[in-house]
Amino acid sequence: MTAPSAGAVPLCITMDARDNVAIVANDGGLPAGTVFPSGLRLVDKVPQAHKVALVDIPEGGEVRRYNVAIGYALRAIPAGSWVHERLLRMPAARELVGLPIATVQPPAQAPLTGYTFEGYRNPDGSVGTRNILAITQTVQCVAGVTDFAVQRIKAELLPKYPNVDDVVALEHSYGCGVAIDAPDAVIPIRTLRNISLNPNFGGEVMVVSLGCEKLQPERLLPPGSFAISLAPGTPAASGPQGGAAALGRPGTGVDERNVADVGASEATALDVVCLQDDAHVGFMSMVDAILRQAEQHLQRLNARRRETVPASELVVGVQCGGSDAFSGVTANPAVGFCTDLLVRAGATVMFSEVTEVRDGIDQLTSRASTPEVAQAMIDQMAWYDAYLARGRVDRSANTTPGNKKGGLSNIVEKAMGSIVKSGSSVISGVVAPGEKARQKGLLYAATPASDFICGTLQIAAGMNLHVFTTGRGTPYGLAEVPVIKVATRSELARRWHDLMDVNAGRIADGEAGIEDIGWELFHLMLDVASGRRKTWAEQWQLHNALVLFNPAPVT
Ligand code: CA
Repeated sequence: MTAPSAGAVPLCITMDARDNVAIVANDGGLPAGTVFPSGLRLVDKVPQAHKVALVDIPEGGEVRRYNVAIGYALRAIPAGSWVHERLLRMPAARELVGLPIATVQPPAQAPLTGYTFEGYRNPDGSVGTRNILAITQTVQCVAGVTDFAVQRIKAELLPKYPNVDDVVALEHSYGCGVAIDAPDAVIPIRTLRNISLNPNFGGEVMVVSLGCEKLQPERLLPPGSFAISLAPGTPAASGPQGGAAALGRPGTGVDERNVADVGASEATALDVVCLQDDAHVGFMSMVDAILRQAEQHLQRLNARRRETVPASELVVGVQCGGSDAFSGVTANPAVGFCTDLLVRAGATVMFSEVTEVRDGIDQLTSRASTPEVAQAMIDQMAWYDAYLARGRVDRSANTTPGNKKGGLSNIVEKAMGSIVKSGSSVISGVVAPGEKARQKGLLYAATPASDFICGTLQIAAGMNLHVFTTGRGTPYGLAEVPVIKVATRSELARRWHDLMDVNAGRIADGEAGIEDIGWELFHLMLDVASGRRKTWAEQWQLHNALVLFNPAPVT
């Protein structure tokens, strides 16, 4: 496997002119003794994506990347040395006081008009990129029965309804054996509710319940909460007024507001199959009931057709996983460029992963559209700091062995590379965990960085397209929403040629610019959203589990 650059010119990439380290770009790294065109000579072997000191750094001196101190030298580091995590002391977390508030107003960018995709318009105004029957479950106890029924639905019913893409059981581990009245239980409950209402499910809510569980169907989906199927002509519930809805901290009563403004006029009864109903005699009676109910929803979903809608109907969640030091050099900056394009097109883009943006909080609060939005971000970070402190850890618990092997020394360096996914636009809103996004523009959706929990919460927020960057490589995918995966390195993109959708490694190879990959991603998103292209994860049906964020106790 030979890259065009391998064995050719030694190449290192500097993110900011004030940095005193750069990362080695060449496949396979570079041996000691290598001399760069600048005259810098390597004194150590440096693996690909790892850092090299550009100048002599004294003991205690700052190690700067992204023009930020990512650490302090534990001993003198001569120019040309491999700068790895064992040589660095990590800076303390930025205090959440005295932050710059809405100080940076990025120049307004020209609107991007004329871009469209083919989507499924829902009665409430939202737009799906897929046409999926989702079966909600109140509790894990029913998962086996539901799965059995779904296999039969796929084999016996789905072929009769060719306009329906898939049938998905929304399996999870919540619903009973949990302290359901604990204040923080509001998070998993509203997450499940809002997942059921994701635009890709067309408002066809159906529930399988056991009967004796703590999370009763009417608590999960109270009357008026599942009103995505508002009659045509009914004013849409979504709108800017709800936007900063999300100003509440996790665990506050904001959830009830969410429910209330979805349209209380809806009087439709919730469609529930309850396994403990006396009417069921034997297992097949339960399965048949699920099939019978499912067919009614399939008939309505099958009648839907794609229509041309503006790119502003995209609700994109971005996240990264299996990151390396190239993540913040190639893939994430390209995603950030694409984020700006989407915001200019009027779309919604959510960036997330609290522990991966915590160290850049001052960059984020300064980019907030208003002091209220900045305060909402600070509240989310403070809540998460306290949550981590309860477990006697801090944000540094985030990094993995693979991150470090991939050249990321600590969470500060990882965070600087992660934040660039958010581009340069003003941050116009905050979405608390499990809540639904109710406005357009660039939003901070507060979620843990865990790939599955972040993805699950972004589905709840109404995501209809997911972008995922990876450097170490992960086959991540979701059944509910298409996932476009972006590789940070060409070597990964070549080895995982049938798992990676975009190769941002061409930026490090000098074959493409950040803008080129950003535009490529933008066009791919419109194709995938339209159903014209399938992502590799869709092709192979690689589906990770829904993992609910439950900060409340279990019993
Ligand atoms: Ca992640």
